[in-house]
Amino acid sequence: MTATGLPDDEYTALRERVFDTIWSVLDPLEREIEDTERIPLDIVVPALRACGAFGLIVPRRYGGSGLSIAQYLPILAEFAKIQGGIRTLVHVHNSFAHALSEIGDEQQRAEILPGAAVGERSLAFALTEPGNGTGMDLSSTARRDGDDYVIDGRKWLITNSDIASHFLVLARTGPRAVSAIIVGRDTPGLTIAALPETMGCKGAEHGELTFTGVRVPATGLVGTEGDGIAHLERALEISRVFIAASSLGTATRAFDLSRAYARQRVTFGRPIAERQAVQRYLAEMAVDLYALRGMLADAAAKWDRGRRIPAEASLLKQFGLEAVGRVTDRALLVHGGIGYTRAHPIERLYRDARLNWLEEGPPTVQYLVAARALLDGHTFDDAFDPQPA
Ligand SMILES: Cc1cc2nc3c(=O)[nH]c(=O)nc-3n(C[C@H](O)[C@H](O)[C@H](O)COP(=O)(O)OP(=O)(O)OC[C@H]3O[C@@H](n4cnc5c(N)ncnc54)[C@H](O)[C@@H]3O)c2cc1C
Repeated sequence: MTATGLPDDEYTALRERVFDTIWSVLDPLEREIEDTERIPLDIVVPALRACGAFGLIVPRRYGGSGLSIAQYLPILAEFAKIQGGIRTLVHVHNSFAHALSEIGDEQQRAEILPGAAVGERSLAFALTEPGNGTGMDLSSTARRDGDDYVIDGRKWLITNSDIASHFLVLARTGPRAVSAIIVGRDTPGLTIAALPETMGCKGAEHGELTFTGVRVPATGLVGTEGDGIAHLERALEISRVFIAASSLGTATRAFDLSRAYARQRVTFGRPIAERQAVQRYLAEMAVDLYALRGMLADAAAKWDRGRRIPAEASLLKQFGLEAVGRVTDRALLVHGGIGYTRAHPIERLYRDARLNWLEEGPPTVQYLVAARALLDGHTFDDAFDPQPA
């Protein structure tokens, strides 16, 4: 299905509204969040709600803005310029509301998406487990019992575990079958505990869920029983592009701050921006930004035209996290010692960027997914053609 998104004038107005909220309401919270390791939800949630950030990629028929992916990426990238916990909250909420709009049935969409579009409901994604790997290695189980499933197991590192109204849980429904099931937050037998604070993207909660005989109606099954891995792959595919857009946003902020600092910092009577060695740092950063922008535009255009992009998404996510890693390394060098202190946001951007290694799967998984798709015959396109589609 082709995604057209919002008409230009409506998109421009929405984008301006969200950008204004980002810089006038949310960015000033950085110090408080970094100090307390808590997001002040009483300020952040109403602000995100008022500017429409919860429903960015929720279809319009459910009350969202129904942005195309090409329209959504620059907004997510802008969130990645400010305190990373806020970006994480927005990303996970939108990503899995979008996934539900694609893989859920009409009843599931109607129950969750109108609330998700305005931030009254939220879906978190519960895949990772403490005792084993993902996919067929999962140990959580969902046993069919009459009209219900009964779920047992543990999940951890589940983002938005503090605010989610529903969890999309991946559990085994047979020896070689994994299924995706929606579980309401207040279901008896589900307990949620906080995990230790993270290196970066502070303030977002990534809790541990324990399921003990959690009974949910079988109507919570997404798709058909046993096709959870296929749903997972589709949801993660576009979400990996979202992580790459986050890498672009963080890298762009690091570059902008470094360029400004290089112009202003004077040593031996001249701004360091006049030194060829520092110019090289900036130029190297710009190579990564430029390449990442082009790759993101390509992936977004293909997805919006209805194409599957398993190889592109994984390669893009991998390139993005390496790019933002290099850019934040260089940014630290341009700033010298003061960049290592909290006087500049560089050290925060540096820490935030390191989460991109892990979200939606580590590098080994990205290489595996991309290589498998390419070996199966996936091509980037029929021909290299830089004309607009
Ligand atoms: C802040 C944060 C938020 C997160 N949010 C969520 C969330 O909302 N929902 C969710 O489900 N998960 C979430 N995660 C979990 C995240 O997706 C995983 O941490 C990540 O995919 C790595 O999985 P793991 O931690 O189990 O590492 P492991 O699987 O233990 O991997 C450890 C190392 O071994 C390598 N490795 C493991 N298995 C293999 C293999 N078979 N072949 C080769 N190499 C291998 C990995 O590449 C890695 O280098 C979050 C993590 C963090 C840090």
